[in-house]
Amino acid sequence: MTKNDGERDKTASMETILTHGGRASDDHLGFVNMPVFRGSTILFKTLDELEDYKAPYRYGRNDNPTTRALCDLVSELEGAAGTVVAPSGLSAVSTALLAAVSAGDELLMTDSAYEPTRTFASEGLARFGVTTRYYDPRIGAGIAALFTERTKAVFVETPGSLTFEMQDLPAIAGAAEARGITVIVDNSWATPLYHRPLQLGADMVMHAATKMFVGHSDAMVGTVSANEKLWGRLKRTHRILGVAISPDDSYLTLRGLRTLAVRMKHHSGQSAAFAAWLQGQPEVEEVYHPALPDHPDHAIFKRDFTGAGSLFTFRLKQRSRDALAAMVNGFQLFGMGYSWGGYESLCIPFNPTNIRTAVPWTAPGQLFRVHVGLESLDDLKADMSAALQRYRAIA
Ligand SMILES: *Cc1c(COP(=O)(O)O)cnc(C)c1O
Repeated sequence: MTKNDGERDKTASMETILTHGGRASDDHLGFVNMPVFRGSTILFKTLDELEDYKAPYRYGRNDNPTTRALCDLVSELEGAAGTVVAPSGLSAVSTALLAAVSAGDELLMTDSAYEPTRTFASEGLARFGVTTRYYDPRIGAGIAALFTERTKAVFVETPGSLTFEMQDLPAIAGAAEARGITVIVDNSWATPLYHRPLQLGADMVMHAATKMFVGHSDAMVGTVSANEKLWGRLKRTHRILGVAISPDDSYLTLRGLRTLAVRMKHHSGQSAAFAAWLQGQPEVEEVYHPALPDHPDHAIFKRDFTGAGSLFTFRLKQRSRDALAAMVNGFQLFGMGYSWGGYESLCIPFNPTNIRTAVPWTAPGQLFRVHVGLESLDDLKADMSAALQRYRAIA
């Protein structure tokens, strides 16, 4: 029988936590899944109850059993003191950053960060007197040389979700800790199954849960988890901002997480195999996938990660827009769209040259970001082969 949270063996493996965490079946008539508690108002029976703050739930915006189950599960996965949820991954980014910095502070952000994360910092935080400087994702312990009296937070995204540089998180976190600087990590790519930033010295870890956690391209959700040191600050910031999500979306995220281990195992194997196959295609100039032995940061991947995500990038020789259109318009299986993490494969062309500021992107050619879904690998190879032929056929 499934035990309620807190009664389970704390040494359980990630697969077991994903299956049994955040269920509390004893509390809802034995049903396996946490029900969706839709509600704003929670009634108090007496004045004593209203005033003593002992009721487990007081108001729907701040707390909800379905959402709490999700937070408990993510905390267990990340080894966190606590977790809050937000209505998108970007909202998780902004909540984490607002918990970490105040007017007059400086934020250091990796040059490889997800573009809307950058925009929140350089456009949003700037309005409140927080300045952002971008650093080389491969800086490692060298980040210490960038610290000033005003530096209060470092934002890490490893690997960068377009260009796939891996960051030396233990080195960055070590340097930051010596100065009392908060380290926030975007862990959307690897998920806590394959990478656990809080165990490597980070203070907060966030997820675009929209991607692998939800896993079916049908909900927008974000999570932020914190260690003991930052948890009070994160919880309070989340509360005063009024960030809340629908319990239906919490339910969908819990439902997605139940199969995260099997999905990730499949995505991980398929993405590495597909990347290796692409490396052998004559028109492919470069493949950016940290699990490939010749990726420049493969040693960091081997040291700090136990598996790879679904997502990687490859580069072709530059050809005309007509060639590009012929290639992507003719895909049978690969879809062209933003986001990733669902069961379906995606391939989208992009150009990072206007995004970067610290380390200019100079490699010539056309980049594509691929999310390898759950289709058969042979079918995906056939679809991509035909696409590469279409690209080659037009100058
Ligand atoms: C998509 C994404 C986000 C933002 O998540 P949304 O749910 O789309 O707001 C943040 N970080 C990374 C790495 C992402 O891929």
